[in-house]
Amino acid sequence: MRSYNARVFSAGPKVLSEKDLSVVPDPCPPVCVWLKRDLRVDDHAALAEAVARARGGAVFAVFVYEPEVLAQPEWDSSHTAFQAECLADLEAALRRKSIRLVTRRGEAVSCLEHLRNETGFRLLVAHEETGTGVTYARDRRVRRWARTAGIELLEVPHTGVVRRLATRNGWNRLWEKRMTAACAIVPRSTGRGGSDVVERLGSLGILGCRELGLPADTKDRQRGGERAAGEVLEDFLNVRGRHYSGGISSPVSAATSCSRLSPALAFGAISMRRVWQASEARRLDVQAALATAESPREKAEGKAWLRSLKGVQSRLHWHCHFMQKLEDEPAIEFENMLRAADGLREREVVPERLAAWQSGHTGYPLVDACMRSLLATGWLTFRMRALLVSFASYSLWLHWRPTGLHLARHFLDFEPGIHWSQLQMQSGTTGINTLRIYNPTKQAIDQDPRGIFIRRWVPELAGLPPAYVHMPWTMPLDVQQASGCIIGRDYPAPLVDHIVAVREAKRRLAMVRNAPESRAEARDVAHRHGSRKDRRGAMQQDPVRRTLFGDGSDSAGRSKRRPGPPVRDPQQLLDPQQLLPFLTEDLAAEVAQGPQSENS
Ligand SMILES: Cc1cc2nc3c(=O)[nH]c(=O)nc-3n(C[C@H](O)[C@H](O)[C@H](O)COP(=O)(O)OP(=O)(O)OC[C@H]3O[C@@H](n4cnc5c(N)ncnc54)[C@H](O)[C@@H]3O)c2cc1C
Repeated sequence: MRSYNARVFSAGPKVLSEKDLSVVPDPCPPVCVWLKRDLRVDDHAALAEAVARARGGAVFAVFVYEPEVLAQPEWDSSHTAFQAECLADLEAALRRKSIRLVTRRGEAVSCLEHLRNETGFRLLVAHEETGTGVTYARDRRVRRWARTAGIELLEVPHTGVVRRLATRNGWNRLWEKRMTAACAIVPRSTGRGGSDVVERLGSLGILGCRELGLPADTKDRQRGGERAAGEVLEDFLNVRGRHYSGGISSPVSAATSCSRLSPALAFGAISMRRVWQASEARRLDVQAALATAESPREKAEGKAWLRSLKGVQSRLHWHCHFMQKLEDEPAIEFENMLRAADGLREREVVPERLAAWQSGHTGYPLVDACMRSLLATGWLTFRMRALLVSFASYSLWLHWRPTGLHLARHFLDFEPGIHWSQLQMQSGTTGINTLRIYNPTKQAIDQDPRGIFIRRWVPELAGLPPAYVHMPWTMPLDVQQASGCIIGRDYPAPLVDHIVAVREAKRRLAMVRNAPESRAEARDVAHRHGSRKDRRGAMQQDPVRRTLFGDGSDSAGRSKRRPGPPVRDPQQLLDPQQLLPFLTEDLAAEVAQGPQSENS
């Protein structure tokens, strides 16, 4: 503070009199930026706003390790490790902007109150977080504290999610406006007011799992940090993204065909706007190149890139579309969106079924491979996430809350708004979506016909002949012995009969969904959360839309769309049709139709 005074006093040409001194404003206190899930400097509206509003005061950033957040059942050591990598990058980047990063541990209000007492900050800037019940309640406490303490709390948007949205009408336009606005540039902070105090602030540094008393992170996961996020984006837009369209459903190709930006987006190591703008710039480049392309090969390449870029852009839109649901109705983290579905599964969670599903021992090879791969890496492609939930919710009749908590813990990219909306959607409790029930054996045959992914993650099945890897329970005993896998000893028999279980699940759900009061309630849900037409009057690619407005579904919710193209993965040389002689009649008929499209 003293240094600021000195600057003020020496700045003017004239010597200040006693009278002048009485009107010199108070030294500007520092401004505090509270970081949460926005661990970057690029396109960081809160930091930019803080520097702009500092008026000569220093700017510092605080990150609080909150015991209540770390104790949430959704939290995993992999999240802490990823977060630490983001914070390490961020600390260095902030230093270049002359902004100090301070970390504290404790309850948020009490940490902020201490910092306020130490620095005298009067302006606190943060982003609008759409988080879990715990962080939602915490944010409300912070707001109350700020009001009573006379602190100006400025919360700024950082995705396409709109706070206090009155209606979903027009939301798409608001989203587009946010995505096309200029990215926020954080200038170097030149304010000196309070900088000596800020320099002296105690900080815990960046804490890892050990310091926070958490088990070690054992996942073979993606790296955190703004730099890593930028590299992933570059690589995707210039190399890997070519196979996005057609390559994202199969677990064999998805790990490299998908963008893999989700953990960076969830921790805010990259902004949604930056990703959208980079993808749009690339799309325009491709489009321009396509206009002048001459050879059929160049044209085919250009078209493939365009399909992929449009595909990923529509998903970036979904990201915020789903988060908006939780923002508008925080209860959907805990309660069925369609309250008429209350009581359907709540009392029927069978612990043995849950445990088998959680550890990847259900007896259905692709389900088990997906779960085991998730536990090891922290990531799965959309289709396989949906398969896991469909199997848990319909085949095992488990409630979405405990299964969702398990997945949240193991998804490195856990994003509450997307996660809980998807959990409900894939469990049939929204009332507005077509029931999407995946047959785990058909999915295995469509998406991993040679059993590459299955053999990798379920080593018990590695030695099975191709005809049995998707249905090991059909192996004759001599084949079991020859391949070193006895069903019931080395690998479980199916936990349930999927076909029988799903028939019963459909019956129970139909009773709820077809009741007149459920239909009325579903209309309310659609009004609150359903997507709307876009500016041009066309429907945007949105999973909710299909059911709401009928494009792609008949009145009974059955898909009218033709099956999508088969997965074009060079490793998948075995034609699923070759398996037909080994399948039951029902399954053979389904497999013969080909895979479902990537959007379903
Ligand atoms: C049951 C279930 C739970 C899910 N939980 C999460 C979650 O906690 N966090 C999360 O980020 N995604 C979640 N998803 C959506 C999707 O599976 C992931 O976003 C995607 O697999 C992440 O990989 P990617 O970044 O390579 O995706 P890409 O396909 O490359 O997509 C790019 C980005 O678009 C967004 N996106 C992609 N698909 C969807 C979708 N269906 N809905 C909303 N946004 C989407 C994500 O931000 C993603 O990073 C869930 C899906 C299901 C079925």
